[in-house]
Amino acid sequence: MIGLLSLVICDVGPRDGLQNEAKILEPRVRAELIARLAAAGLPRIEAVSFVNPKLVPAMAGAEDVMARVDRRAGTAYSGLVLNEKGYERARTCRLDRVNYAFPVTDTFARRNQNTTVAEGIALSRRLVARAREDGLPITVTLSCSFGCPFEGPVPAARVLEVAEQVLQAAPDELVLADTIGVGVPRQVRELILGVRSLGDARAGAHFHNTRSTGIANALAALESGAELLDASVGGAGGCPFAPRATGNIATEDLVYLLQGEGIETGIDLHALIAISGWLGEQLGRELPSLVSKAGPFPA
Ligand code: ZN
Repeated sequence: MIGLLSLVICDVGPRDGLQNEAKILEPRVRAELIARLAAAGLPRIEAVSFVNPKLVPAMAGAEDVMARVDRRAGTAYSGLVLNEKGYERARTCRLDRVNYAFPVTDTFARRNQNTTVAEGIALSRRLVARAREDGLPITVTLSCSFGCPFEGPVPAARVLEVAEQVLQAAPDELVLADTIGVGVPRQVRELILGVRSLGDARAGAHFHNTRSTGIANALAALESGAELLDASVGGAGGCPFAPRATGNIATEDLVYLLQGEGIETGIDLHALIAISGWLGEQLGRELPSLVSKAGPFPA
């Protein structure tokens, strides 16, 4: 396989997971989740999101969360931004990196972020330039790369057209996100190989397990040369466009797969399973991860 030595697992549970849970956790508990993940050996954590707290109450108090985090060497703490105002807030939080996300379809862009794809591309370039000045590594994530809840299937050629324009600004990483969990490995291979053919940026992938293709997609991404995979402990979260759906692929399910494939992640699987149980208690529900239910093998 390609690119395995530099594979990074980013736990997006404190952000994407909690953002889509019915129960809102206070900053103290969110900071504890982040600390537990860092102690389990996660090389990267998407800890917070700088969005309007009126629109996303679960993500309110990002500054408070980050102020409470006892930072651990070896873990990079990242924050999600959707606009320039979010970037300004992120700069004050001593984050190790930022992730700017925008969708590749105009209908989603208008309804979710009140913008357009063209504006998203233009902003990605400005933010990449600013982050470079600020010495802050930046990831650009293309939402809805595998399908849009409003426009339906999205042709790979269209995604790669957007990717090419973003990559002209030379972000550190470009991530393809299956925001609504509709993708299959065939798409993953086409898109990851396509992004890698466009330049030197590291390619990454973000999958939701909405239709049970998440782990298969992660393996396809890895085998196509992706160097970053997002996952969320317990598989917390959901999909705002599919009310009964599960969340991100579970970090412990991904780590189990990678260990079996002989890929060392440095992440403690037993610790992850313990965090998954703890988080389920905090959220008052059983989380969808399968490895947490069945346990590691051999035990
Ligand atoms: Zn997501």
